[in-house]
Amino acid sequence: MDPTVLPRLRDLLRPDQIDVSESALDLHARGESTDAERRPDVVVYPESTEDVRRVLELAHATRTPVTPVAVNSSLEGQTVPVDAGISLDLTRMDRIVEVAAEDFLAVVQPGVTYPRLNEYLRATGLFFPVDPGAEASLGGMASTNASGTMAVRYGVMRDLVLGLEVVTATGQVVRTGGRAPKSSSGYALTQLLCGAEGTLGVITELTVRLVPRPEATMGARATFADVHGCVAYVTDLIQAGVPVARCELLDAAAIRAIRAHLGLELVEAPTVFLEFHGDADAVRRAADVALELARDHGAAAVETATDPEALAALWKARHQAYYAFVAAHPGMRNLITDLAVPVSRLAEVIDASVAAIGRLDVPGYVIGHVGDGNFHLTLMFPPDDAEAAARIDAAYGELVALTLAAGGTITGEHGVGLRKRGFVRAEHGDAVDLMWAIKDALDPAGIMNPGKKLPARTEAAV
Ligand SMILES: Cc1cc2nc3c(=O)[nH]c(=O)nc-3n(C[C@H](O)[C@H](O)[C@H](O)COP(=O)(O)OP(=O)(O)OC[C@H]3O[C@@H](n4cnc5c(N)ncnc54)[C@H](O)[C@@H]3O)c2cc1C
Repeated sequence: MDPTVLPRLRDLLRPDQIDVSESALDLHARGESTDAERRPDVVVYPESTEDVRRVLELAHATRTPVTPVAVNSSLEGQTVPVDAGISLDLTRMDRIVEVAAEDFLAVVQPGVTYPRLNEYLRATGLFFPVDPGAEASLGGMASTNASGTMAVRYGVMRDLVLGLEVVTATGQVVRTGGRAPKSSSGYALTQLLCGAEGTLGVITELTVRLVPRPEATMGARATFADVHGCVAYVTDLIQAGVPVARCELLDAAAIRAIRAHLGLELVEAPTVFLEFHGDADAVRRAADVALELARDHGAAAVETATDPEALAALWKARHQAYYAFVAAHPGMRNLITDLAVPVSRLAEVIDASVAAIGRLDVPGYVIGHVGDGNFHLTLMFPPDDAEAAARIDAAYGELVALTLAAGGTITGEHGVGLRKRGFVRAEHGDAVDLMWAIKDALDPAGIMNPGKKLPARTEAAV
């Protein structure tokens, strides 16, 4: 880093907003799941848009890399400052600015987490429906275009962010979008910045849609002899247009790990967990249809639940699945796929993933937001086993090829980060050149989260 940056930062911010301690640098050197590691030169904690603006202006002038980070729960190495420089930690920008219940929207700073927003909204009868497993921030969630268990019903971040305040890579403060429920005005910059993984600018405020809490909620689960049975059932369920609010798959190994981690009484069998939202009659009707279809598909057991505490425990278990897998294999590395395909192709790609676990001879788990064609294969392997890592990489490449041939995507929700860069051109072809043109226009000095999201300019398709 340019030696003038640190003293100049000290002129711009209070001492407690700048941290070069070993512990802060270590804490900001890694993300979840990947092994990539690099310490930043300095961690900076902005507390306002003006703080961010000053830091980015300085970073642009001195060609200093800036890696935004919030809760740091992203899974693809997005927050690892691979070129060092500044880790811009946005967790202190955590104010809920406004709730306009009459317009079904909230305005928040980027460090607000979605559980905190929902707690705040409790009395309003509204909620924010994107729920990634970790207690992630709205700024991080917008930046990865996150989704979660309810995307099948309410959509993903890109559908739910109406407007942003952003500090560009050159230090300009701009507003994109607005408060209207829809707009055809200008280019869709809000949607471009949602999913940019911090490579185009820093989000300093978000205007997000809220949705009414359902009058009634009913949960259901159906167990099947194998994962294929679960997926065949889900495919029919979705194609039949049954209005599910959540539709999640967990294989038997995943349920075993969750039982051991959380002590929950769950049947150790491949299971589809469902939830229905609406008025009491509507949820009962939808659940009846769903469970009848499950029986037609040979489900071993089906049951429903309306008790809010039991439902909350169930979804908590689902959200903790990743931590349960890590706890079951202390010290092991992991690779998580995040493939998403049209629902009609789900069975073949999940079948291939299940077969890969058998072939690779490493512990593996299949879980997924299967209602929207998205699932995760988590493979565990010893850190020093290069041969296992190579086998896993080769199998991953084959699954990606199968997914793309099925019209799918390499990432339904986790984003590209570091680990998936090698597959981006295979998915997007020459559109990658357009993406680089956008990157160059918005970040001419290339300082924003370098080394992420896009493949190297010269990289050919894999
Ligand atoms: C147990 C577990 C379960 C998960 N389940 C899901 C899931 O179901 N669905 C899902 O989508 N994800 C899931 N994730 C991944 C993760 O929670 C999401 O990627 C989430 O969106 C990251 O939010 P964060 O606040 O942790 O962001 P971070 O990890 O801190 O940052 C994520 C990205 O956003 C950028 N960024 C952060 N803040 C800003 C900002 N203000 N402006 C510009 N860029 C910014 C960072 O540079 C980085 O590229 C899970 C992770 C874990 C650990």
